[in-house]
Amino acid sequence: MGKCIKCGSEKIVAGKMSGFAGVQIEKKECSWFELNTASFIPQPLVCMDCGHVELVIGEKDLREAKTITKN
Ligand SMILES: [Zn+2]
Repeated sequence: MGKCIKCGSEKIVAGKMSGFAGVQIEKKECSWFELNTASFIPQPLVCMDCGHVELVIGEKDLREAKTITKN
């Protein structure tokens, strides 16, 4: 699952968001009837050594995000 970007620990625990609407990413192009943003629910990764919380979106969401943005 990777390392903590703050302290380098490998004791990372995956959690779930509660009461969180998601991350919105702006689309590069959209039709007039579409929202100009796409929403993704990130997964929190919690470091059990320093308490740092990192948010990541899943591979499937990331692939989708890449197809609708300039990046
Ligand atoms: Zn840490």
